[in-house]
Amino acid sequence: MKKISIIVSCYNEEESLPLFYEEVTKVMDSMKDNTFELLFVNDGSKDNTLDLLREFSKKDNRVRYVSFSRNFGKEAAMLAGLDYSTGDYVTLMDADLQDPPFMLPKMLKVLENESLDCVGTRRVTRKGEPPIRSFFARMFYKIINKMSKIEMVDGARDYRLMTRQMVNSILECREYNRYSKGLWSFVGYETKWLEFENVKRVAGETKWSFWKLFRYAVEGIVAFTTVPLTIAAFLGIFFCLIAFFFILVIIFKTLMWGDPVGGWPSLACIIIFVSGIQLFFMGIFGEYLSKTYLETKKRPIYIVKETEK
Ligand code: UDP
Ligand code: MG
Repeated sequence: MKKISIIVSCYNEEESLPLFYEEVTKVMDSMKDNTFELLFVNDGSKDNTLDLLREFSKKDNRVRYVSFSRNFGKEAAMLAGLDYSTGDYVTLMDADLQDPPFMLPKMLKVLENESLDCVGTRRVTRKGEPPIRSFFARMFYKIINKMSKIEMVDGARDYRLMTRQMVNSILECREYNRYSKGLWSFVGYETKWLEFENVKRVAGETKWSFWKLFRYAVEGIVAFTTVPLTIAAFLGIFFCLIAFFFILVIIFKTLMWGDPVGGWPSLACIIIFVSGIQLFFMGIFGEYLSKTYLETKKRPIYIVKETEK
């Protein structure tokens, strides 16, 4: 009998957790050919999430939990879940039922019948999401897929069922700046996608502001491609060529007609433009440098304060 670990990261999810637990136990009870481990990761919630988890684990011996000393973010929570999981198959779900647990039996069937390493899920619609957010999300996937060799699937959720072998490969990536959407593809393995319609959060509120998502997108780009650095280099060469051309033009003009002081407005424009570009790319270098800086400190990615035992 194969054991399935269901990892659920929770941050202030007291409202959704009871609903989630009810749904997921229904699914677990229906899958008689498997044993389960329901592993919650409490990512430093400030509400009653931890009490709920203690309660669940007391009455249900399939439930385990790992509780952080503070909020470390969903990426850290997912890593901790993978670290602590013991199942032959591992899946990750959100606590807000946006990753429908009822898809699990089908995912398992596909995984086993087609002997794949991973069955992922992707949203085919972004219904219920602000249009501006969908627009930027689409743009992000277009840009990052152009720049990076690692393929990132638009609409792919972190909700996926993986074999132990794939999980172990992911666990070998111990980087501090984690971007799982890229890591899943980075480790390779054969993945098949099941599609579903976007579901709204059952209760509570999303923890992702637009700014947070923007930072996350930048993180993804910095973590999986160095193309922006190359663009900077090429742009540098391009501007040098233009400058060289202008020097020739100016020398020629001065020699022919002599006009020593004219042209200062254009000069001001050029200086502002070029220094803007320089600052912009310095910002990009800074982004890479800061990630390198954080990486070299080798701080723990998460700190566990309490587990179920
Ligand atoms: N989450 C977390 N740590 C955080 C933020 C979110 O563990 O710092 C969890 C959250 O409890 C939920 C999942 O990550 O189970 C997805 O979060 P959310 O629903 O807010 O994101 P969205 O679905 O809106 O992208
Ligand atoms: Mg959600």
